[in-house]
Amino acid sequence: MGDHESSKIDHENHLLLDQPLLQLPIELLRKNLRSARFEVEKDGSYVKETLKKTANDSARGDPISQPDAVKTLDLMIARMRGVKRKLTAFSEEENRLHRHEEARVKHLAELYSLYSVDDHKYEGWSRTRLDRLLTDYLLRQGYIDSARALAQERGVELLVDIDTFDQMNKIRQCILNGSVQEALAWCTAGDTKKELRKMDSNLEFMLRYQQYIEIVRNRSQTRPDEAFSHARKHLFPYRDTYPTEVMHACGLLAMPPEYVDRVPAYREIYAPARWQKLADLFTETHNSLLSLPSIPLLHIALSSGLSALKTPACHSIHPNSAAAPSHHTSLSLATSVCPICSTELNELARNVPHALHSKSHVEPDLLLLPNGRAYGKARLEDYAKKAGLLEGKVKDLRTGEVFGVEQLKKVFIS
Ligand SMILES: [Zn+2]
Repeated sequence: MGDHESSKIDHENHLLLDQPLLQLPIELLRKNLRSARFEVEKDGSYVKETLKKTANDSARGDPISQPDAVKTLDLMIARMRGVKRKLTAFSEEENRLHRHEEARVKHLAELYSLYSVDDHKYEGWSRTRLDRLLTDYLLRQGYIDSARALAQERGVELLVDIDTFDQMNKIRQCILNGSVQEALAWCTAGDTKKELRKMDSNLEFMLRYQQYIEIVRNRSQTRPDEAFSHARKHLFPYRDTYPTEVMHACGLLAMPPEYVDRVPAYREIYAPARWQKLADLFTETHNSLLSLPSIPLLHIALSSGLSALKTPACHSIHPNSAAAPSHHTSLSLATSVCPICSTELNELARNVPHALHSKSHVEPDLLLLPNGRAYGKARLEDYAKKAGLLEGKVKDLRTGEVFGVEQLKKVFIS
């Protein structure tokens, strides 16, 4: 029943969910540029300072020996070669991100060449979008190999973010396996530390806190002062920001794991469930640093689709039954099965709101024919005229049966 108006593509609304598609490469480009600048500044200031020191020493009449000067110069050259190597890698990464961005702009621009959902090219475009959403979903669930295989088979590698999620997932797995080193390295790489501080992120502190808990837990195998020196370096400086954690850290020294059963607050600190929380905190921080949506786009698309199709009748008949029958009425023209009432989607749709249908898709002035079918008054009159019927007669648009107008009943939808 796709009339012209409803099959028209509203491009802006269509692309509402696709902002992250363009945004991630831009965020990664910015991160890449910041990291490159960080390296240049770090090694640049080393070279500048060494150069200044060597020149000053010579000027003070305290010339360093020639072999020493050559050694210093060699060191500086080696550092600069290192910078060049790193910059080459940053440049390759930049080219890769530009290729991704270009492919994405092209994919979104294709939609603007389509004006109707009936266009055969639209099916291909929306299929690509579905492949993208499915790959994104698999990546976020940690099924990296399946996501890679799907993206390769469907040719959407440039439209999905396999490397980003792969890296994230590896670090997440390390945390779940009880290691914080990889996540700490992520926190401190390039200028991520500065960015995390801007976001008021507690990730690095929580990782250091967990490190401390593990030192205390295994105190028989560590040096006696290790817990204290770790706390002094990584926890005490933040006692104003995280007073509870720092207080617990102090108390933990007097509370070995074998005694904590009596004190619930400390039992929680030693609990293995902390690793899961830490992994979730890492994922959340990673995603917000890169402006990635916190839930898969597939969920958003699915819930808005379910919401659009759901009617108040969908869950009213058998509120507890997953297999509620389709709510077709004798008045509906096409007694199709409602997707929301199907076994597959009924439970999924239970908690989504109904869409507010501001525009009715039922014809105005519905009239009921004696055979149980209903049509709009205007359509019946129009059809009667075309069929050359006598005044006061109407014809069923589908069955061709002819009835007198006195037999018709007005339909009220309640
Ligand atoms: Zn329904």
